[in-house]
Amino acid sequence: MPYAYDDQNIFAKILRGEIPNTTVLETEHTLAFEDIAPEAPVHTLVIPKGPYVTYDHFASEASDAEIVDFTRAIAEVCRIKGVVPGDDQGGYRMIANSGENGVQDVPHLHVHILGGRNMGPMIP
Ligand code: C5P
Repeated sequence: MPYAYDDQNIFAKILRGEIPNTTVLETEHTLAFEDIAPEAPVHTLVIPKGPYVTYDHFASEASDAEIVDFTRAIAEVCRIKGVVPGDDQGGYRMIANSGENGVQDVPHLHVHILGGRNMGPMIP
């Protein structure tokens, strides 16, 4: 069962309202909130509301509606945070750490949106 979902992970608790978050955007299938330990002036996490562990899990099993919603929400978060290329803080980095070698700490799919400074080499 490579995609066994742990419903006690911290993002599942955030989605159930058991732990507070600073919401940036909420849509039907997606929640975006500020990372509690930001590594850049802009550091927002975007998660699907459904129980998906990794991107490959999500892309395999989510509905088209969830995938479209999540994909568009990521772009909307970039606009809200002002990091779309051409904005004052133009440019951003998207990261989805996945599994052991990806060093994923929270086993619920999340895309990090990082920006507000030059992000430097991809692997520092
Ligand atoms: O990609 P990875 O799983 O390592 O990232 C988890 C991220 O979740 C970290 O950047 C951490 O700061 C963030 N986090 C959070 N709120 C929590 C727990 C973790 O924003 N309550």
